[in-house]
Amino acid sequence: MDSLVHNQDLRRHNSFGFAACAANFMRVETLEQLQGAVAQARHNSWPVLVLGGGSNLVLREQIPGLVIQMAIGGRRVESVSEDKVRVTLGAGEIWHQSLEWMLEQGYYGLENLALIPGTVGAAPIQNIGAYGVELEQRFDSLLALDTDSGDLRRFNRDDCRFGYRDSCFKSHEPGRYVILEVSFALSLIPNLVLRYQALADELKARGIEQPQPSDVFDVVCAIRQQKLPDPAELGNAGSFFKNPLVSADRYRDLLQQFPNLVAYPADDAYKLAAGWLIEQCGWKGRCIGAVGVYSRQALVLVNQGSGTATELMLLAGQVVDSVQLRFGVVLEMEPRLYPA
Ligand SMILES: Cc1cc2nc3c(=O)[nH]c(=O)nc-3n(C[C@H](O)[C@H](O)[C@H](O)COP(=O)(O)OP(=O)(O)OC[C@H]3O[C@@H](n4cnc5c(N)ncnc54)[C@H](O)[C@@H]3O)c2cc1C
Repeated sequence: MDSLVHNQDLRRHNSFGFAACAANFMRVETLEQLQGAVAQARHNSWPVLVLGGGSNLVLREQIPGLVIQMAIGGRRVESVSEDKVRVTLGAGEIWHQSLEWMLEQGYYGLENLALIPGTVGAAPIQNIGAYGVELEQRFDSLLALDTDSGDLRRFNRDDCRFGYRDSCFKSHEPGRYVILEVSFALSLIPNLVLRYQALADELKARGIEQPQPSDVFDVVCAIRQQKLPDPAELGNAGSFFKNPLVSADRYRDLLQQFPNLVAYPADDAYKLAAGWLIEQCGWKGRCIGAVGVYSRQALVLVNQGSGTATELMLLAGQVVDSVQLRFGVVLEMEPRLYPA
């Protein structure tokens, strides 16, 4: 296999900027190349990591086996009926660029997910979400290669078992399926989701009374640029912890003890703002060596440059311990640590 690279430096392939070294690395642009890479890994008994943009990964220094960089592209319209359109995107397409293209075509529904880094193929893995929209709401189906059997399998929404920052691909059988393409059910008529307060506030501040999807897209980009560090300048993976879900009873108990508790109703439970919990424990802006908690948003852990996954995981462990001690709530990490 001529495009197999040994000892590939992955610093530029992960948004934390960790200096990880892949024992073997291959970029795949076609299904045939992917099948060849998977066969080679099986032949050598190599573990496989499929890499998109590396924006939801904590990579350790040595990555054994094979890293496959997903670069299968393509965009096509499957069907148009009345006000609906179904589009399919290759897993290696860049998420944000794909959204720009959708907006240009007049295909609406994903504007709230603008500027999330990474690829289309990784988006279903944790059912990406932001500003009141989750991928599953606009999801139609996906096509994946089963690395166990070598077969192609189509997953509909129920098959994916989507949850909050979760799917079967993330928590049930991680690594078994390589996503090849994702189909979305979009609308030809704007159907804006504006219930997120920051979004409504920014539209108002801009004097936009009847927003169009492009306004929502622009405003989401602007808010994200203000709130989150740019990985090109400061290594990070966005939110490092999920917002913990607690029952309504537990929420009321906590609220009695901590009247300023920040939480959002989620069906019959409550989602606690993990950033607020971490900030209350005094972590915001604190660094341990080259890793730290972002000074403007405590939910984001950062690498100042020379940090390592080991240092980051130590810091994360201390954050988890202090939140548990103070609030009795266990934070769960959002990105994938590899190797675990
Ligand atoms: C600044 C910043 C902001 C962010 N904001 C958000 C946000 O608002 N909401 C949100 O949900 N996430 C957010 N994220 C997290 C991240 O961008 C998303 O999870 C994104 O979908 C990851 O895409 P990726 O291509 O970089 O995946 P990677 O990090 O490369 O991979 C993530 C996981 O998916 C697997 N994977 C990747 N591609 C495939 C494939 N084709 N088939 C099978 N498995 C695959 C990998 O093996 C790994 O387990 C943010 C990250 C950053 C750095």
